[in-house]
Amino acid sequence: MAGIGHSEIGMTSAATRRRLVRRLADKGIAHPAVLAALAQVPRHRFVDEALSSRAYEDSALPIGRGQTISQPYVVALMTEAILTGRALGKVLEIGTGSGYQAAVLAQLAERVFTTERVGELLRTARQRFHELGLHNIYTRHADGLGGWPGQAPFDAIVVTAGGTIPAGLFEQLGEGGVLVAPEQQGQQQVLIRVVRRDDEFQREPLGAVSFVPLRPGVE
Ligand code: SAH
Repeated sequence: MAGIGHSEIGMTSAATRRRLVRRLADKGIAHPAVLAALAQVPRHRFVDEALSSRAYEDSALPIGRGQTISQPYVVALMTEAILTGRALGKVLEIGTGSGYQAAVLAQLAERVFTTERVGELLRTARQRFHELGLHNIYTRHADGLGGWPGQAPFDAIVVTAGGTIPAGLFEQLGEGGVLVAPEQQGQQQVLIRVVRRDDEFQREPLGAVSFVPLRPGVE
């Protein structure tokens, strides 16, 4: 074993990841496919090496440019919220960031489309997808406020930055599709789940969350 970096056999091992997954189950994440997806994706590969020993703590971590990789519990919660028993064909994510949430979604959906407004973050995320062989993730350097009209309709849309939920996203949901997004309500953010049934949109709050803000334009 000597020679293998301590990090590979210690703080970032599959066993460490399984411990995190058990903790998420204790916190109420129940869906086996969600727990399996989080057990599968090496979160330490989505943060800077200097932070890799903290990758399996249940906390958000900085990824540069003032942005963060979401807390694993919140990633699991959002992922669980879009599973309704039907197969997930196409999923849209707004806010690629580190790429971690997209990698988790890619375990469960046929294809994941993800948009990021900060070019530098997107380049790093793309490199990670390539290295990890995640070939069912499609990326776009764009302002995600308009969604991805050319690929709609989606079975699910996951927004990973907080603000007013962009109204144009609703019509990009297919029938029975689910959107989850952190909505700014005064001083706090609430995770909202919206299900499309015919042309009705059923809203349900899932709890308080804390995401970086949704911003217009690209960098
Ligand atoms: N899903 C990410 C979370 C990243 S934080 C992960 O798993 O790591 C949210 C990201 O949303 C940031 O990278 C930010 O740059 C991006 N973002 C904010 N507003 C956006 C917009 N209008 N369009 C696309 N991306 C946006």
